[in-house]
Amino acid sequence: MNCICGCGTPLNRDQIALNLLASEVAIELVVWDKARTLGSPPIPDEVPTRLVIGAAVYQDLLAAIHAGEEPGEREQQGTHEWLEDSRAARLRLHDELPVPKKKIKLSDAEHARIDRRHPERSFSGEVGAAEPSPAPADEAAEVDPFLEALLVVALEDVRAGRPEEAKRALRRFLSEGS
Ligand SMILES: [Zn+2]
Repeated sequence: MNCICGCGTPLNRDQIALNLLASEVAIELVVWDKARTLGSPPIPDEVPTRLVIGAAVYQDLLAAIHAGEEPGEREQQGTHEWLEDSRAARLRLHDELPVPKKKIKLSDAEHARIDRRHPERSFSGEVGAAEPSPAPADEAAEVDPFLEALLVVALEDVRAGRPEEAKRALRRFLSEGS
């Protein structure tokens, strides 16, 4: 498996766990950036704030992946807190903003526009302005980190006693992975 940002860095076992965490952060950033871009104003101030903090969390994770280092306890806690806050905020704000209450589902078109280096700009960034992520051809068979994030969601459903939802997520994983 290679780094989520598209740089082609091959990952060892510890880095894979970080990569997965980064993909969870990235997908939340994509959702909030979409809400900020497509939601009807006024967008609550907490949204841009959350994006700024989340973008920093994501960059720290990328830096740790690239350096092959484990982030410190404090950074790890910060990441988990940001993720929890983001999920709680979606639950709280889904009536006001186009954010999913629980599970994040991106269409193929949305998936295609994810900016892997700066997911917080996937929707708000000018079209064509984002640096294209280099994707070496031999990466085709790699598991996409975003698909892995779907698997994480499915696992959470199983643990939370929602097998039907888990099956749906798994089906989506299988259809997107093929
Ligand atoms: Zn990278």
